Amino acid sequence: MLGVRALRLLQEWGCCRRCMLIFLGERSDLLYGDMAVIDDTLKSAAAKIKDESEPENGVSAQVSESEQKEEEPSLQEGSEASGNQESKVRVSLEDTNYDHMAKKQRCSVCITCLGLLQWGCSSDAVKLLSDAISSRGNDGDAFALALSFPMCLSLRVHRVWTLLLQALPKFPEKGRIDHVGTIKEVWKNLVGPEIEVSIKRKFITKKYFDFILNVNATHSRDMVECEIMEKLCTAMFTVRRQQHRKYSNTVFTKQAIDTAIKKVSDEEFLKACPEPPCVPDEAIIFQSLQCQQTSIFMAGRYNKYSRELPQTPWLVEGERKMETSVQELICESLIGAVKADDVKFSSSGREDVDVRCLGTGRPFVVEFINPCRTKFTRSEMKDLQAAINSNTKLVALRDLQVVDRKDVKVLKEGEEEKTKAYCALCLARDGYDPKVLDRLSGMTELTLCQKTPIRVLHRRCLATRRKIIHKMLASRVDDYFFKLHLTTQAGTYIKEFVHGDLGRTTPSLGSLLGLEVDIIALDVENVALDWPPRCDD
Ligand SMILES: [Zn+2]
Repeated sequence: MLGVRALRLLQEWGCCRRCMLIFLGERSDLLYGDMAVIDDTLKSAAAKIKDESEPENGVSAQVSESEQKEEEPSLQEGSEASGNQESKVRVSLEDTNYDHMAKKQRCSVCITCLGLLQWGCSSDAVKLLSDAISSRGNDGDAFALALSFPMCLSLRVHRVWTLLLQALPKFPEKGRIDHVGTIKEVWKNLVGPEIEVSIKRKFITKKYFDFILNVNATHSRDMVECEIMEKLCTAMFTVRRQQHRKYSNTVFTKQAIDTAIKKVSDEEFLKACPEPPCVPDEAIIFQSLQCQQTSIFMAGRYNKYSRELPQTPWLVEGERKMETSVQELICESLIGAVKADDVKFSSSGREDVDVRCLGTGRPFVVEFINPCRTKFTRSEMKDLQAAINSNTKLVALRDLQVVDRKDVKVLKEGEEEKTKAYCALCLARDGYDPKVLDRLSGMTELTLCQKTPIRVLHRRCLATRRKIIHKMLASRVDDYFFKLHLTTQAGTYIKEFVHGDLGRTTPSLGSLLGLEVDIIALDVENVALDWPPRCDD
């Protein structure tokens, strides 16, 4: 009875019942069954694995009922490892020492799952996990689990498999490939439904990314046990040890251990690890429990009425140059309402600190990273917008709404394509003849060559860009001042077009009018991007 012999060895070495069942190749719902029936499941799983070709101990493979009974391992309730085996298990028992056995009886942490399928599924663990989700105060109605476990767990599984196959070469090893993944799945499917009941949120097993509880399980012996792979794969780890920066934390990454396991043959491995993994003194611990909610996005349009307000916080070498910014005025109260860890603000283009943004405003979107609140009614959005608008005279919002992630790309796509309308207050230092302004209305689709302006050279590469002015219209203010309304391709540098930027923009307004012209003030009048959708209210 190959299965029964395998079961005995696994029990001998100190595997928990669920781990034994996984070694026996069980991948069905039976793995999640009640502990009360798991012994029967184990026995029947073991009985299914037979070595048909060879008679065992001189007895034919057809084992009679009574013989089978005698062969059944005793599975004692309350202790994962059973001591009364030495007379029966003949296979590979040379490796078993009695200290090992005694220790195993005192402490029943499983040698392969390190207690993940024991303590890790207990009501204490479920409470810990449930509390981690509940305390986040998230408004979602479902959750998924993600588990990362110590590398030594993979290593221990590998160790038990090599020993098992050494002792029982005919034991079916098809389950070996997905073994570690199975432990993870079994754990999730054991605790998930319990957490579901406890927090009244639906547990989702497959491909669900909206809300994930990331469980990082660690074990005190992890690093010590990984060292064996460094001895076996010296070259690989020597290279890693030299790459200080890349592996500043540890050279024993999950990938490294997996690669090392594949590189070393079972024979070499057994030479280095001839005995079963030691019975651990303690189980794995959940070192960190992190809730991860996918971002939500809010979009709207903003007006900016100040000429002393940057769009984003203006810091020079860590020092703040302006008290606040459009981004801060919009995001600070929203982040409080959404209870997010962080925000990312982006907009369709941007204006300079001294440029106002009028008309229907500039489209923007805010991404909320790891938000607690994800659901907002239309009336709540209205209230949020009203609160921001009543707090400041510097900016005003409209059309504030929750949008889908997939719609956000409209904002960035539109940035280059869309036209923008501006109004510039210009000064002709020597005065001007109002008739010259009429020339401009006849100029449509005028192509400019703009070398990167001097004022932005420190952050943009030097290049000559062709930009189009679709149309212009100028109107007299007085003998020196006039207003220029223009519609341009996105990305046109308007200030440089007006004053010429020392000949870097050609033609310039000055060259077109035959005047020396300066720009006094600039307003964005329209950003022609029809997004986000208007809100009727
Ligand atoms: Zn186990």
